[in-house]
Amino acid sequence: MKVTDYFEKADGRTLVSFEVLPPLKGGGMDSIFKTLDPLMEFKPPFIDVTYHREEFIYNKRPSGYYEKTSIRKRPGTVGICASITHRYGVDAVPHLICGGFTKDDTENALIDLAFLNIHNVLALRGDARKFDGKFVPEKGGHEYALDLVQQISDMNQGKYLDSNIENGNKTEFCIGIAGYPEKHFESPNFEMDLLWTKKKVEAGANYIVTQMFFNNQAYFDYVDKCRAIGINVPIVPGLKPLTKLYQLKSLPRMFFVNMPEELVKEIQKAKTDEAVKEVGIEWCIRQSKELKEKGVPCLHYYTMGDSKTIHRIVSAIY
Ligand code: FAD
Repeated sequence: MKVTDYFEKADGRTLVSFEVLPPLKGGGMDSIFKTLDPLMEFKPPFIDVTYHREEFIYNKRPSGYYEKTSIRKRPGTVGICASITHRYGVDAVPHLICGGFTKDDTENALIDLAFLNIHNVLALRGDARKFDGKFVPEKGGHEYALDLVQQISDMNQGKYLDSNIENGNKTEFCIGIAGYPEKHFESPNFEMDLLWTKKKVEAGANYIVTQMFFNNQAYFDYVDKCRAIGINVPIVPGLKPLTKLYQLKSLPRMFFVNMPEELVKEIQKAKTDEAVKEVGIEWCIRQSKELKEKGVPCLHYYTMGDSKTIHRIVSAIY
């Protein structure tokens, strides 16, 4: 079923969903199942699986020189999605990115997904590789998520890259995209970021999942701004609890999010790792409760493999 159909069917009820990361290369599905098994009691209708582009690493050779190698540390998104659906009977939403894909690769990936009966995707650009400094698209690939959304929408119309295909199967992808309540870091201003988001919706995106935020007002304002410019698709808040002291600095650095003063003070007052975690969990519970009260379509948790913490939070809400 499509993600947006779940929202419609819920008829104003707030659903819950989770995001998992593929295991590091060499790991198995057991780590995913270990994360998800305890969370399935909350009956998430869908589970997202992230996609990770190849990275360059430098291996030291016996000669003393470093050799640049390209590796994908977390492969397996599509297989994991199929496995999740098979085990739990829920929909899995693979993240599909522009980085590392030519348009042909994308087309073929989408064909595979349709064959596997996977009809939801989160369409993203992807981040810059560590040593690139800025996002570099694959040669013959997309530069922006907008172009990826357009390609998926075209396939939903039966339009393939190969113009010789007549009467091609119309795929039925429900397309999610990313949204940034505190602005995407590369965007010169909020308004431009919103305009590009609007273009993605006009190109066929069906719903938005937000970047994590720690101040609900940022989400509420974001939704208002979206509605004001005619973005009317469901906007799902993405939530991650802060559980470690160093995240006070690392989360803003990595995800360009602000930490509210009250949360910062509470965390700084905490004397032990456990106390920090308690503050983070309580904060996320407060956020979740308020968002649910306001009737958001779904609370979407970034699990980061920590099902215990997420379980505690969701148990306090449902
Ligand atoms: P875009 O929509 O392409 O936007 C990128 C920037 O360009 C923005 O500043 C935007 O304002 C601007 N822009 C957009 N379109 C245009 C245009 N046509 N012309 C000029 N400027 C434009 N990354 C991964 O690698 N794998 C994942 O699994 C993953 N999952 C994510 C899930 C969520 C919910 C979120 C919020 C992010 C996720 N990311 C993931 C990170 C995401 O790839 C990065 O945030 C990336 O930097 C931007 O992706 P985007 O799809 O928002 O890009």
